[in-house]
Amino acid sequence: MKKKKSGFNTKLVHLGELEDSMGSVTVPIFQTSTFSFKNAQHGADCFSGKDDGYIYTRLGNPTINALEETIAELENGFGGIATSSGMGAVNSIYLALLGQGAHLVSTASVYGPSRNVIEKHYSRFGVEATFVDTSDPDKVKQSIKSNTRMILVETPSNPTMQITDIRKIAEIAHKYGIPLVVDNTFSSPYLQNPLDLGADVVFHSITKFINGHADVVGGVIVAKEENLYKQIRDIMVNFGCNMDPHQAYLVHRGVKTLSIRIEKAQENAAKIAQWLEKHPLVKWVKYPGLRSHPQHELAKKQMRGFGTMISFELKGGHNTGKAFMDNVELAILAVSLGGIETLIQHPASMTHSGINKEEKLKAGITDGLVRLSVGIENVEDLIDDLSQALDKIT
Ligand SMILES: *Cc1c(COP(=O)(O)O)cnc(C)c1O
Repeated sequence: MKKKKSGFNTKLVHLGELEDSMGSVTVPIFQTSTFSFKNAQHGADCFSGKDDGYIYTRLGNPTINALEETIAELENGFGGIATSSGMGAVNSIYLALLGQGAHLVSTASVYGPSRNVIEKHYSRFGVEATFVDTSDPDKVKQSIKSNTRMILVETPSNPTMQITDIRKIAEIAHKYGIPLVVDNTFSSPYLQNPLDLGADVVFHSITKFINGHADVVGGVIVAKEENLYKQIRDIMVNFGCNMDPHQAYLVHRGVKTLSIRIEKAQENAAKIAQWLEKHPLVKWVKYPGLRSHPQHELAKKQMRGFGTMISFELKGGHNTGKAFMDNVELAILAVSLGGIETLIQHPASMTHSGINKEEKLKAGITDGLVRLSVGIENVEDLIDDLSQALDKIT
């Protein structure tokens, strides 16, 4: 209890600790699929809800619950729901909030698969969606229809780094009685708490910053109120989107260093963004911490830091972008983000290669765009690496 009220770092280190674990300082891995009942009555009470004992790991498990409680507390919500992946989280929310004939309003450059599942699969059940630039609240308002059941925003968005005003969108959503869901993956709970700004549900691809070590795929959802929490949990359990205890253990271990990892990486990111902005081969740089970022003031208000993600456009387009990827030596050529290691990728030929050119441009994905997830290495080494890779393409 005392730990819940303390500072962010104290919470990171201590949240989720179990009281009765034989003195183990870390949360043990309860690697079991099922839990024994003391007797028939106890089993009956667990099923009826009279006793909150564990039944079966898909429904709940102490290691997983420790992680769920931790993230719920960091996001100031009613409860957390851990999932097998970030997409497990997205789909648990979609299935809870969207029904036949429902309409969704979402960020145009939202994470690719979050958009693709709607257009390819939910459309088979009559679900439709409008994807707009949510950094313009008027566009969100104009997209709302009588059957809109959910607004989903991703901020900062991927890979364009556009920032959406969560407070403003929450006001619009609630005027129409629509729940607002925020994909908070790019910020982590350390930099932004959407529920405090009016959102009803927040989720993360835990694969990224929360775990932070590129060794787990997972997701987590936090709902502000009990009702929505129960609805989404019911979907997660019955559609089998649950996390595994070993996965939960690794993430609970990774989250303890969330703030120091982000502090170091974002200090590096700020220096790299400034350096890139001055480089003659770089057309523009998108980093919320730069004064040149169109929503720099909003980022300052809404976030507690500018994060570790940078997008920049190389002069020369598609082939230059690809050549640059082959020239970097320290930065690892890989998708994903939010880990301790610096990752680099070329969206036009990688993550967003499946989208047609017109839609790509509409979402801001240009041919020379490079996305950098800055890690905690020595910043001089990272700049040296980018510098030699750029030199090679001149
Ligand atoms: C990676 C990611 C997801 C999907 O998460 P997985 O763990 O890969 O399923 C969703 N949203 C954003 C912003 C992401 O970066």
